[in-house]
Amino acid sequence: MNVPSAPGYATHEVLNQPGALHDTNAYAEDRPLVEAVGVFGADWASAHLHRTGALVGSAHVQDLARQANRHLPELRTHDRFGHRADIVEFHPAYHELMRLIYGSSAHSFAWTHERPGAQVARGVLSYLWNQGENGVCCPMGMTFAAIPALRHDPALLAEWAPRINSTEYDPRAIHAAQKTGATVGMAMTEKQGGSDLRATLTTARPASARRGSGADYLITGHKWFFSVPMSDLFLTLAQTETRLSCFLATGWLPDGSRNRLKLQRLKDKCGNKSNASSEVEFHDLHAVMLGDEGRGIRTIIEMAHATRLDFAIGSSGLMRQALSQAVHHTSNRRAFQRSLIDLPLMRNVVADLAVESEGLLWLSMRLAAALDRSGADRTEALLSRICTPVAKYWACKRAPAFVAEALECHGGNGFIADHLMERLYREAPLNGIWEGTGNVVCLDVLRSMQREPETVGVFLDEVRQARGGNARLDAYADDLARRLADPAGLEPVARRVVEMMAFALQASLLVRHSTPAVADAFCATRLDGDWGQAFGTLPRGLDTQAIVDRAQVGGA
Ligand SMILES: Cc1cc2nc3c(=O)[nH]c(=O)nc-3n(C[C@H](O)[C@H](O)[C@H](O)COP(=O)(O)OP(=O)(O)OC[C@H]3O[C@@H](n4cnc5c(N)ncnc54)[C@H](O)[C@@H]3O)c2cc1C
Repeated sequence: MNVPSAPGYATHEVLNQPGALHDTNAYAEDRPLVEAVGVFGADWASAHLHRTGALVGSAHVQDLARQANRHLPELRTHDRFGHRADIVEFHPAYHELMRLIYGSSAHSFAWTHERPGAQVARGVLSYLWNQGENGVCCPMGMTFAAIPALRHDPALLAEWAPRINSTEYDPRAIHAAQKTGATVGMAMTEKQGGSDLRATLTTARPASARRGSGADYLITGHKWFFSVPMSDLFLTLAQTETRLSCFLATGWLPDGSRNRLKLQRLKDKCGNKSNASSEVEFHDLHAVMLGDEGRGIRTIIEMAHATRLDFAIGSSGLMRQALSQAVHHTSNRRAFQRSLIDLPLMRNVVADLAVESEGLLWLSMRLAAALDRSGADRTEALLSRICTPVAKYWACKRAPAFVAEALECHGGNGFIADHLMERLYREAPLNGIWEGTGNVVCLDVLRSMQREPETVGVFLDEVRQARGGNARLDAYADDLARRLADPAGLEPVARRVVEMMAFALQASLLVRHSTPAVADAFCATRLDGDWGQAFGTLPRGLDTQAIVDRAQVGGA
């Protein structure tokens, strides 16, 4: 869009600037996404997805996100009279985004609609909101993921699920039981180690004669990372004598005072700026045990598993936003008498990004479907078990390179701080770190192969559902099956193996569900190696025009 110059500003005529991608429907105009919803049985939720897609793609939400990332949260440790306050103050734009994301039930849709496809629909809501504002996706994702962990104690689940699943965002600093809706956080990481949680030093002592799940404890120690410190509820880990256990605490006590925690400072982060992440100390924090004593990691891992799915979905959503921006910019900016996207080399770049994005979309949604079905189908539960960390690893690993390339499509504009691309770029590495770094999730894939060997067969069967559809994929799956035959020696090469698993499953899903143009491009490059180290290295002979048309917001 070219803005006409005002009289007297003839030297300031703005030409050949595409303008912002505003007021799109991030659901309805995303063809692969709508198709995935149909394939995985969630189209009964499409009216809600349409509404959320319009909201997330609106200029209003995009502007709120810009403001919330400009006016950052501030820690207020004390009030003006010197009393401890330990609260974080946010710009109104952040609160409005929280109200909107909770109002769209991105945290709760799967738990409040117990019917086939509900996890897929919830996954789409997360995919969409990760295109709106990532900072509010952190509390949303943790609130979503808390429910599986709370299932370890049905009484606690019954007590808190109604507030956790509420679509009302209630920012008041009062006890969770007095609120119309509750946000949930998790505080696990300590200074001496986040991956090795057995090194936890924080301790818990019983507050009464009662022991075990639901009993009261007092917790003393610290957490080096505690995002969303204004959470109404949070899960944490502490040692009882010498046994690591999981606990549930409220942010405030029933008498209105802050639970016994002190927020030391907020992290000055590379990205995810609108969201507060803190360092915290507990001084006899009131908490109740959640799950069996000594099984803290096993309890909290239920939350971590759901969070890992949400990060695979989240990074895929982030990349979809970067792709949409790149397609918009290159379609509307001209150079050398043509739109950028029509220049053969640029079309190769955008097509390569589109292939990557679509492969990750299908992978993420397939795992949301597996979670959906896992209660009634053991095969699906095993697929979810082994492949959620595969998807988490690969989606998060691809995000930084992907976003950097999409940013470059914008030329200099992409690198400037008032452009959305800059924010996406700073956000892109984060999902790869929290809830299991790259190495940790790869080791988790190997652990599931060793502890539950049937997962390997389940995975290969899923890949082979596309058998006969693409010769390269058939050969690749056979090679992978040979490599997975003995998981015992795979630790040093775990990244390579997990990457191959991600490629194989994405290829299978694309061959079965996408267009031949996308599936052929994926198999020729990711499986057959006719591909370079950078995006934009698709070989000749692929239908890049069809791939790019499919990736257009609004389709072609
Ligand atoms: C913005 C932000 C917000 C966060 N919010 C929270 C939060 O709300 N709650 C919370 O609990 N945590 C939070 N975290 C912490 C995060 O989960 C941890 O940083 C992460 O788990 C890694 O732990 P660490 O930093 O101690 O690194 P380490 O565990 O020391 O890992 C360092 C490196 O060693 C590698 N490594 C570790 N073990 C192995 C192994 N066995 N084999 C090979 N390599 C290995 C890792 O992959 C990593 O690359 C947050 C982090 C960030 C950046």
